[in-house]
Amino acid sequence: MSQTLAIIKPDATGNGKAGKILALLEEKGFTVKALRMTRLSEAQAGEFYAVHAERPFYGELVEFMTSGPCIPMVLEADDAVPALRDAIGATDPAEAADGTVRKLYAESKGRNAIHASDSDENAAREIAFFFSESDRITTAG
Ligand code: GDP
Repeated sequence: MSQTLAIIKPDATGNGKAGKILALLEEKGFTVKALRMTRLSEAQAGEFYAVHAERPFYGELVEFMTSGPCIPMVLEADDAVPALRDAIGATDPAEAADGTVRKLYAESKGRNAIHASDSDENAAREIAFFFSESDRITTAG
């Protein structure tokens, strides 16, 4: 078992799809190990997405991620990072496979419902960004 970070993004909390997305992730075999709702400041969103600072969509991305509440969560599964990337689908919902979170719930390439870590290294960094050790369920069950 390993862990990864997902964030239900502000488009999905705003249009009432957060519960459906969480249910879908549980159906797909992920176990929630930590979860909270927060509204990112501009500084927090900028730091979280610092790797994209030079990309043309960075300003739009920070504006979107601060536009409403989001729900970061730690998810556990076998090979959690690639498993969650498969479950969420391509960045652009028009290219996402059937049954993926983004195919079902994303509005556009920018407003795409969910974030998922793209490597074990980034998962560790992103989990620590949102959760302290004591926030995370580490005991069996
Ligand atoms: P991901 O790993 O599939 O989330 O995709 P990336 O790491 O490439 O991009 C991070 C996030 O930036 C995406 O999930 C989108 O919310 C946003 N993003 C990526 N490309 C675009 C774009 O062309 N336009 C806008 N507005 N946002 C984008």
